[in-house]
Amino acid sequence: MSKCISVLGSTGSIGRQTLQVARELGLTVTALAAGRQIDLLEQQARRFRPCLVAVFDEAAARELGKRLSDLPTEVVGGMEGLVAAAELEDADTVVTAVMGSVGLEPTLSAIRKKKRIALANKETLVCAGELVMAEAKKYGAEIVPVDSEHSAIFQSLQGCRDRGEIRRLLLTCSGGPFFGKSFAELEKMTAADALRHPNWTMGAKITVDSATLMNKGLEIIEAMRLYSLPLKQVEAVIHRQSIVHSLVEFRDGAMLAQLGTPDMKLPIRYALTYPYRAETPDQTLDLLSCGPLTFSAPDAEAFPCLRIARQCAETGGTACAIMNGANEVAVARFLRGEIGFNDIPRRVEKALFRVPVKYQPSLGDILEADRMGREAAR
Ligand code: MG
Repeated sequence: MSKCISVLGSTGSIGRQTLQVARELGLTVTALAAGRQIDLLEQQARRFRPCLVAVFDEAAARELGKRLSDLPTEVVGGMEGLVAAAELEDADTVVTAVMGSVGLEPTLSAIRKKKRIALANKETLVCAGELVMAEAKKYGAEIVPVDSEHSAIFQSLQGCRDRGEIRRLLLTCSGGPFFGKSFAELEKMTAADALRHPNWTMGAKITVDSATLMNKGLEIIEAMRLYSLPLKQVEAVIHRQSIVHSLVEFRDGAMLAQLGTPDMKLPIRYALTYPYRAETPDQTLDLLSCGPLTFSAPDAEAFPCLRIARQCAETGGTACAIMNGANEVAVARFLRGEIGFNDIPRRVEKALFRVPVKYQPSLGDILEADRMGREAAR
């Protein structure tokens, strides 16, 4: 059970909900970190009185430092700031909810300080999963997933003594706003269309990833790394209602799942209270009114991102880092209206075609692959 936390990415959707849960659980928040949204960061700092606030953007950090000069809170900038927030001594748990590959270095720093990692930054495991898991093992740092599917699997695996008993992990997928559309129909979809997610309220980048199904592709890789399973044991299944948050199938045919309303506060709360559970003030699932639960196979032709992600997972090395970097740039360009919806998988494939894969990469190789993936998608 956490007592004192650092929240990296506190102004994003997961970060804001984490602070809500922290308040509810009466936890101390010792550090906050964010990219550049200093208005919200200032409000959060005044409410939680952390020791340290980190702002990735240096100019924004200086501005916030001036604004918070009446508080004892220290304000730091840049990647060093994020790392300082991740390493702060008082914190027993670091919530990593920054968006994208920026989360990699601070996550590794927190692991080396033996913190519990409440991991909400999936890109960390997608780009550098083998490295991150090896470091976590070496330093004895616990990684508790916050991603709803991985939390469901983590919860379903409590009591499983031998990973060899797992036959498959089944990651559920809402299908996103474009479920049922053909590849040709998807060609004209705009950012506004993609941002209308049926079940979950999330940040813009992940909402677009949910529309392309890249999110599920990234989550398949995340699950492989977290639970050290090969690709063939991790599958995605469409479940429109987002009530079953994922399942584990065991060797004896038993399937265990975690069900609940689609609310990120549940996996956040569990990551902070694990191995215990706390009372929720939120509305809980009513089985009698939630309607039928349905399952179907994803449409691989309409949503090529799922296939691309599986191929990268199979390739290994820096392939996933190249894919992730290219995807981040392609999604940002789509959100700005510069490229079409189907150009996202096209850009990502092109980047994978152009950038050579390195095997058994160092952290430096991974960061370089990420950079080259981005460059190629521009
Ligand atoms: Mg998820």
